[in-house]
Amino acid sequence: MPGFELFGNQERKELNDVLDNGVLMRYGFDGMRNGHWKAKELEAELQKIFQTKHAQLVSSGTAAVSVALASAGVGAGDEVIMPTFTFVASFEAIMMLGAIPILVEIDDTLTLDPKAVEAAITPKTKAVMVVQMCGSMGDVDGLQEVCSRHNLLLVEDACQAIGGTYKGKPLGSLGDLGCFSFDFVKTVTCGEGGAVITNNKDYYLNADHYSDHGHDHIGSDRGAETHPFLGYNFRISELHAAVGLAQIRRLSEFLSIQKKNYTILRNALAEIPEVTFRTVPTGGEESYAFLNFFLPTKDIARKTMKAFNEAGVDVCWNYYDNNWHYVRKWEHLKDAKSLYPLSPDIKATLTALKTKKFPQSDNYISRNISCLIKMSWTEGEVKERASKMVKAIQSSL
Ligand SMILES: *Cc1c(COP(=O)(O)O)cnc(C)c1O
Repeated sequence: MPGFELFGNQERKELNDVLDNGVLMRYGFDGMRNGHWKAKELEAELQKIFQTKHAQLVSSGTAAVSVALASAGVGAGDEVIMPTFTFVASFEAIMMLGAIPILVEIDDTLTLDPKAVEAAITPKTKAVMVVQMCGSMGDVDGLQEVCSRHNLLLVEDACQAIGGTYKGKPLGSLGDLGCFSFDFVKTVTCGEGGAVITNNKDYYLNADHYSDHGHDHIGSDRGAETHPFLGYNFRISELHAAVGLAQIRRLSEFLSIQKKNYTILRNALAEIPEVTFRTVPTGGEESYAFLNFFLPTKDIARKTMKAFNEAGVDVCWNYYDNNWHYVRKWEHLKDAKSLYPLSPDIKATLTALKTKKFPQSDNYISRNISCLIKMSWTEGEVKERASKMVKAIQSSL
């Protein structure tokens, strides 16, 4: 991660195909295209790689989550269970539909604890959203079991774990619907973009229509198409899809570079007895986009972060002290700072977060350090980095 590190001729070629005919839109203009349908081609690649019947490209990962939920009928007043540790997109995507985000504890997989999920279920719960954070996955079997027992949708946000697998199946393909992001810092990037994948034909058709103003996409005259239901515009452009197409074809190359760099760092850190690693469920294989490890205490983690900074070890984060990914610092959410009025249900739930405690999540997140795995590092750079990290950790214990 991120895919832009290795931009090259493949990306340039796909992009030039689009610029040569000038059709920047994914729908229509059949005669002008010279046979180039980059979004459609990318959707076909996604179906193949993620072993699912359907893929719908959209304009971002955040849009993918909203479109996925809307396609399965989640909306006003419905509760969606999500983890305390995730990107802000998770609650944004839920609230955009008028649905209510219910935050619950994570476990040492760094995402939803199935026991906490079960305890949070109410008659209003419609869906459980597992966010496969930092290149790995949650207790998929445990979550699926809770969802099927309570007849809930399982939506997988695999934006940070593209290429990871569980029992040989791609992350994103395990739930009822899966979501990906191809934003600028993701393993596969096209600048801005995302995708919803599903084996459910109805959800797919809903996603296809909903992401393009409700258009039914029947026939070849956009003006004559009907609108079976209301939609929005979450379309991807052909320019973005072209870059994404080149990048997705390089996914296995990207994953093997990530794995190589990750393994050098992990083996070095594993020599320190006080360092433990996040739990990857049996049968799971990470995408190796990040290396996550725990230190014995919050103070040692903070000291280590300071030592990393002093030693020039970059792209590592302790999310307890970071504004982006953990509930502790989501003040704008807890204060319900919306530009427009929110429903009383949503407002009450958000305000309650101000006093709500998440001791189990605090325990894991405060002791965790998450390091991005870059693809552009040379082997020498990775080894030098590994020895700097080991020294910094040892000096902080
Ligand atoms: C990046 C990301 C998103 C949102 O993707 P955008 O394309 O930036 O909107 C959603 N969820 C997670 C976990 C992410 O990392």
